[in-house]
Amino acid sequence: MSPSHVFDAYTFSKQPGYDEPVVRREFAKAVPLRTVVVYCYDPRAVAVPAAVAKEFGEVYPGEIVTDAAGRKVASTTTLFEVVVAGGRAIDALRSVTVAQHLFGIENVVIVHHTQCGATSFTANGIVDAWAREQGTDISALYERESICIGDYVTSLTHDVRLMRASPGTPRQASVYGYVYDIDTHALTLVVQDHGTIRPADFAACAPGSHEVGTSR
Ligand SMILES: [Zn+2]
Repeated sequence: MSPSHVFDAYTFSKQPGYDEPVVRREFAKAVPLRTVVVYCYDPRAVAVPAAVAKEFGEVYPGEIVTDAAGRKVASTTTLFEVVVAGGRAIDALRSVTVAQHLFGIENVVIVHHTQCGATSFTANGIVDAWAREQGTDISALYERESICIGDYVTSLTHDVRLMRASPGTPRQASVYGYVYDIDTHALTLVVQDHGTIRPADFAACAPGSHEVGTSR
């Protein structure tokens, strides 16, 4: 095994004079991120980010920006991908938190696709099979509603709520749930949640007013 310091030159927090707030500000400037899209690792869903980018007017995949020395230092993309089984929100929560911390985000778009493998099994089915084949009990390992997809409206409604309810999801971000048709590439909006604080609400929040977002 290599000694741990071999890769120190590639670690921001190990550089001399490392200043966390300064580094964070530099990161925020390096990528103009606006939208995180969560979708399935099924190869048939590979065009989901392009479809979402078109729907939301995002720059995707954009271009990598290099400095004078040819090092990759930034990107023009405004959309990041989180690719997980079934496109379920449970697997994307931490990635959304990190994306907000480093770059700031406005939208989280959760996409479940037609003919998904996650619709081919049940929560009981995978738990029982796992016990037989692996000899271990995963019945309490994952939230049951997040294991498979039995109904698209139910799964998307659950995932938008889960993402919204997470304290690691920025309050101002809108959360969307879409079904993507793998044959036509069509996106169908099923559920949306526009957050508790919108940028416009700050302007509407005049002194003396205790209600948000109620001005003309
Ligand atoms: Zn899938």
